[in-house]
Amino acid sequence: MSNVLVIGAGVAGLSAAEYLTNAGHEVTVVDKAARPGGRCATRRTDVADDAPWFDYGAQYFTARSDTFRRSVEADLSAQRLTRWQPSTNTAEKTGESWLFTPSSDDRERLIGPRGLNRWVRSRFDAADIPVACERRVNALRRGANGWTARFDQGGPIQADHVLLTVPAVQAKTLLGAEARNVPVLAAAPQIMSACHTLVVEAPAIDGVDAIFFKDGALSWAADNTTKAGDTAPAHLWTLNADATFSDANVEQSADELADTLIDDFVRATATPRDQIRLIRGHRWRYSRPGPAAPEADDRFWVDTGAGLALAGDWLAGGRVEGAWLSGRGAAARLIGDV
Ligand SMILES: Cc1cc2nc3c(=O)[nH]c(=O)nc-3n(C[C@H](O)[C@H](O)[C@H](O)COP(=O)(O)OP(=O)(O)OC[C@H]3O[C@@H](n4cnc5c(N)ncnc54)[C@H](O)[C@@H]3O)c2cc1C
Repeated sequence: MSNVLVIGAGVAGLSAAEYLTNAGHEVTVVDKAARPGGRCATRRTDVADDAPWFDYGAQYFTARSDTFRRSVEADLSAQRLTRWQPSTNTAEKTGESWLFTPSSDDRERLIGPRGLNRWVRSRFDAADIPVACERRVNALRRGANGWTARFDQGGPIQADHVLLTVPAVQAKTLLGAEARNVPVLAAAPQIMSACHTLVVEAPAIDGVDAIFFKDGALSWAADNTTKAGDTAPAHLWTLNADATFSDANVEQSADELADTLIDDFVRATATPRDQIRLIRGHRWRYSRPGPAAPEADDRFWVDTGAGLALAGDWLAGGRVEGAWLSGRGAAARLIGDV
């Protein structure tokens, strides 16, 4: 048995910690955020437990691979996950006007019945894996006795192995000089695209739960209220900016870009502007892997000699499923199972 420090409690950190715990290793999971989940991010409109919720990171996910499929079956049975079958439309710009048409898309989409963040947390809880939150690692050093992680606050942690699931650019910073030995970090600053996200209160759109934008500043909009199975008249829509738009405007906050993003939503859907209220803006600086992401055949990078593993969606084609497979695969390789 060895001890492993898992840095990051998103989906990759979750699957890694589950695998290592099941294999009998001593696992410590730390995250800089106030709670686990990473980009599976959900909030409520206020602190009341029954206040409406919205996902402002990942919206849903797919489970196509056999391994992930088997894993989520238990969540579906336990109602930690449910299926969402949105009616989708496509919004395309033709000159100055927008074409807003139904699109057929019957892929299976999985959501958390109370948001995707709760799904991640419920899995940590079900596996009895504690997560030390508000523990931001600021340096990782390798010595004769393994690894030492240093934090903004609190004492250091020593471990035989480290499994790092933070986005590439952050992994490079933490590893310092060690990053020279990690080829997948070569292009670290270019790997991830940004995404500005808004959550707005807006009227329901008859027969439309989600929208794929083919043009303009947005890429996707989803009605959280239909995800929750709620029929209230005011709905909470999550609007995601297009990656090219967000990368070009990365230094601006989501609130600063709100008018541009809302304009496209208003014009495409013919929603009256005065019926839209901004609830929350969020800029994801590292949202999804773009074209500069490394090609990692295994979906992770491991140096067993050094006791170091890197995992996360940026090594696995993006998305929740990629992150999950990446974390699990990295954990298995790190302890010599594959
Ligand atoms: C707006 C948006 C929409 C998306 N939509 C979808 C979708 O619909 N479907 C889909 O499948 N995927 C979607 N994704 C992608 C999906 O969210 C990610 O692929 C997945 O959640 C990544 O998981 P991860 O564990 O690799 O990384 P993360 O979730 O980013 O986890 C990394 C963790 O590391 C922590 N961390 C970072 N630095 C430190 C540090 N120094 N010390 C300690 N902890 C640290 C972070 O707090 C975080 O919790 C979306 C992402 C965004 C941003």
